[in-house]
Amino acid sequence: MNPGKTYSLYANADTSNEYYETIRKLIDRFLENCRDEKILLLQVRKAISKPGLFKIFHNKFKNNCFEDDILKSSLSKFTKNIKNHLEEISIIKRFDPIIGTTEKQYFLYMLEIELVNRIYKKEFNEAHYKIALLPHCLRDFHERCLSQPGEIEQTCKGCNKDCFINQGSKILKKYQIDPYISVTIDQAKMFKYLMRKHKSISALGIACIPELVRGMRMCLDFDIPAIGIPLDVNRCARWMGRAQETSFNIEALENLIR
Ligand code: SF4
Repeated sequence: MNPGKTYSLYANADTSNEYYETIRKLIDRFLENCRDEKILLLQVRKAISKPGLFKIFHNKFKNNCFEDDILKSSLSKFTKNIKNHLEEISIIKRFDPIIGTTEKQYFLYMLEIELVNRIYKKEFNEAHYKIALLPHCLRDFHERCLSQPGEIEQTCKGCNKDCFINQGSKILKKYQIDPYISVTIDQAKMFKYLMRKHKSISALGIACIPELVRGMRMCLDFDIPAIGIPLDVNRCARWMGRAQETSFNIEALENLIR
């Protein structure tokens, strides 16, 4: 797989399995210092939001269950392109909460995704209606996509066995999760519609790391149990100028929803 614009969960391997093993062990290690997953999640979110001078103050007096040095030594192999990317973009883009994500924020987002998955997995499974949103950049770009409009978003018609959206959709359906290809800008409106229609709903997202965290937080703000799988690399048009193929770890998806 070609490298992503800022990160690659492959690092130097043929699969992203090592990433999932690394993040799992890291969380287990940090939880040894912490009372529970929710407290660790709170600390992670607080660390992400500390700006400027307050960040210096916070770092000096912090009492977190996680350590920055361990984060960097464990996860920096997956974030090698961030420095170059941040040097290349304009100052205005550095303030974009997605495009301007720093390496430290990536590390914390990785922790956040894993923690939210652990905390909300059971509630996700217990919802009456479960949906998954897959990004269109996961489709096979060699062929024309034959997806069709579904009830809330585009749906995959399974025209290409190599397409990651097709492969992911088959697994999701096996676990009674309705897969959609995410194209809607106003996801809040879409979730409000689903909440009116069903007794309870839950959502699974697949997206690049900063977008996934944004989406999971939005769902949780609506009291929708959310879980997610990060794309292996970020290569959509937003990052690369034109959309290029990407992938996600199918085994990690099945482990999360089984
Ligand atoms: S398999 Fe599905 S998502 Fe992939 S190209 Fe065909 S219709 Fe589109």
